[in-house]
Amino acid sequence: MQAKITLLPGDGIGPEVVAEAVKVLNAIGEKFGHTFEYTEMLAGGIAIDETGNPMPDETISACKAADAVLLGAVGGPKWSDPSAKVRPEQGLLKIRKELGLFANIRPVKIHSALADASTLKREVIENVDMVIVRELTGGLYFGEPQGRQDNAQGRAALDTMYYTEAEIGRLMRVSFDVARQRRKKVTSVDKANVLASSRLWREVAHEVAAEYPDVEYEDVLVDACSMYFVRRPSDFDVVASGNMFGDILSDEASMLTGSMGMLPSASLAEGKFGLYEPIHGSAPDIAGQGIANPLATILSVAMMLRTSLGLNAEADAIEKAVESVLDAGNRTPDIAESGVEAISTSAMGDAVVEALG
Ligand code: NAD
Repeated sequence: MQAKITLLPGDGIGPEVVAEAVKVLNAIGEKFGHTFEYTEMLAGGIAIDETGNPMPDETISACKAADAVLLGAVGGPKWSDPSAKVRPEQGLLKIRKELGLFANIRPVKIHSALADASTLKREVIENVDMVIVRELTGGLYFGEPQGRQDNAQGRAALDTMYYTEAEIGRLMRVSFDVARQRRKKVTSVDKANVLASSRLWREVAHEVAAEYPDVEYEDVLVDACSMYFVRRPSDFDVVASGNMFGDILSDEASMLTGSMGMLPSASLAEGKFGLYEPIHGSAPDIAGQGIANPLATILSVAMMLRTSLGLNAEADAIEKAVESVLDAGNRTPDIAESGVEAISTSAMGDAVVEALG
C-alpha cells in the first residue's frame, strides 16, 4: 500500500513524540511492504508565530489531500493569554470543523504492567477496557448564539447547546459499530432530566439502538456516569456522549490509567478519513528534554493503520510491540516506578521498533 500522511507536529513535546511515531510507521512499512509518504505542516503556536494563523489554509488543504493526519499537540504558555486574538486551540476547533471530524474515539485500557501507576486501587481498574465516543463538531462548543451579553444589570454571557437528530444519529451509529467489534454494549450519556437537547439525544439514541438488537444498550445521566467511572469502570464497553460531557468524562477516564502519555485517540469523519493524536497536550514543563512518553502517539498510529488504512495486522503488531516493551520493563519517567531507571523518548521509540522485529 502507498498512503499519504500529513504530519502536524505542533508545539512542545508534539514534534518529539511524532518523530518516534514516524520511526515506528517506517518500521511497519519495511516489515509489511508499505510506503508512507509524509507531508509536514504548521499547526498551533508555531503556526501563529510563522503565519499569524493557528491553522493556515495550506495546512487544511494538505490534510484534505491525505489519507490520514497525525497530530502531536498544540499550545503552550507563550500563546495562552486568554485575551489574545488568536490562540492555538482555535486551530483545533477549525480543523475539526473543516475536516468534518465529528466523532472522537478514545480507547482507555489498562496495561497490566502499569496498573499500579493509577491513583485507584488495582482491583478497581485492572480490567478497564472501554472506548469513549464523543461528538466533536456540535453541542455546546459550537452552538449559536454564543458570546457576551452584557446588559443594564451587569456582565452576562451565553452559550447554546444545540443538537440535530442527524448529528446525534451518526454519532450513535459510530458508537454501535465500534461496540460490534468489541463486547457489544453501548452506554449513552446525557442529562435528559434537565436539558431539552439531552431529551432529543435520548430519543434518537433509542431509535438507533433499535437498529442494533445484538448490542446491549443503556442510558446513564452524566453525573451518575462520572461517579460510576471511579466506582466500577470495568463495567463499561462503549460510552457515547455529546461534546462537552465527553470532553469531561474522557479526561476523567484517562486518569484511570495513571498516565496521559499512554492514551491514543482518533477523530473520524464520514468514511475512513481520520485525524489521530495522543490525548495529552504539549507538556511545556518537559518539552525539549527528551523524556516525553511517545507511546500514546505510537498507539495513535496503530489506530490510524486499522481505521483509516484498513491495515489490521500492522495495527495489532504495534499494539503487541508496545505491550512487550512495557512487560520488559521499559519506562519513560512519567510511568517509571520509584527506583526504576527511566529511558528517553527516542529510546522508547527504538524499543518499540526493535520489538516489531
Ligand atoms: P498536558 O497534557 O500537556 O500535560 C499535563 C501533565 O502531563 C504535565 O505534567 C505533562 O508533563 C504530563 N504529560 C503529558 N503528556 C506527557 C507525555 N507524553 N509524557 C510524559 N508526560 C506527559 O496538559 P496541560 O499542561 O494542561 O497543557 C499544556 C498545553 O497543551 C496547553 O497549552 C494546552 O492548551 C495544550 N493542550 C493541547 C491539546 C491538544 O493539542 N490536543 C490537548 C490538551 C492540552
